[in-house]
Amino acid sequence: MDGRGCSERLLMRLPDWLKRSKDLKALRGLKLKLRHGGLSTVCEEARCPNIAECFCRPTATFLLLGDVCTRSCRFCAVHKGTPSPLDVEEPSLVAKAARDIGLTHVVLTSVTRDDLPDKGARGFASALSEIGKLLPGATREVLTPDFAGRRDLLETVLEERPDVLGHNVETVERLYESIRPGASLKRSLSLLRLARDISRDVIVKSGFMVGLGESEKEIKDLLLELRDAGCDCVTIGQYLQPTRAQIPVSAYWEPRRFEAWSELAKSTGIRYVVAGPLVRSSYHSKEVLEEIRASLDAPTSACTKE
Ligand code: SF4
Repeated sequence: MDGRGCSERLLMRLPDWLKRSKDLKALRGLKLKLRHGGLSTVCEEARCPNIAECFCRPTATFLLLGDVCTRSCRFCAVHKGTPSPLDVEEPSLVAKAARDIGLTHVVLTSVTRDDLPDKGARGFASALSEIGKLLPGATREVLTPDFAGRRDLLETVLEERPDVLGHNVETVERLYESIRPGASLKRSLSLLRLARDISRDVIVKSGFMVGLGESEKEIKDLLLELRDAGCDCVTIGQYLQPTRAQIPVSAYWEPRRFEAWSELAKSTGIRYVVAGPLVRSSYHSKEVLEEIRASLDAPTSACTKE
């Protein structure tokens, strides 16, 4: 199915299934707590459409290593440029904020820091360690950059035994050169494979967006590659243009298409799939982790969320 004609009509108006209401009071409350600690969340920086729902639960994905990225993906609203030196207090500030907010599942992600010798791996490890000390009962999930594909850096993170190691491939291989300069699908797949190889216990997770100009065949090929890389869980969501500075949406896919991709992913052998127009890699990640844990002992399962 070609969504281009559809997208040209729908770009005038956001489809109903992508609209969200906001509890502004709860949203402001959590934002104030985060500002008090001088912290950033990817929920705000990337203008996530689920921010109101997540902040009200409460749940948040902390953005480590500053808020300036050394890469320039054309779909991403995070600031690009030359980052500031690392804040050595960041790991303990994140752990304290997670405790104060009352999180029972903490998700950590970061900008890409190609400028750092360790690409930021020790920042992830320190934050995991601090959270483990302050919130011993909390589950911990990381969504990492590609660490230049280096095994030693991935080991640094996995030594802290996160429950989930996520790394998003974001899109199909053909689009990397034009919209994801500096990244490589092969390197990302290799990182996921390394994670599977280093730890049999960690849940390996990846995700990508549709609506960037990919074809059905490319989606299927990507799912097969993610299966071969050893992914336990794949998320599929609709790309939404965060601001006019990012590339436009090529197509708004209807919810039933996500159900079809869930089934397709399941048929390739991927054990757990979360697919839906508003699905993002950290969306309902606590519940997803619990369901994955339960499903890993059961037959293959898939889940489609709107
Ligand atoms: S590497 Fe990640 S944070 Fe940086 S521009 Fe790309 S998607 Fe955004």
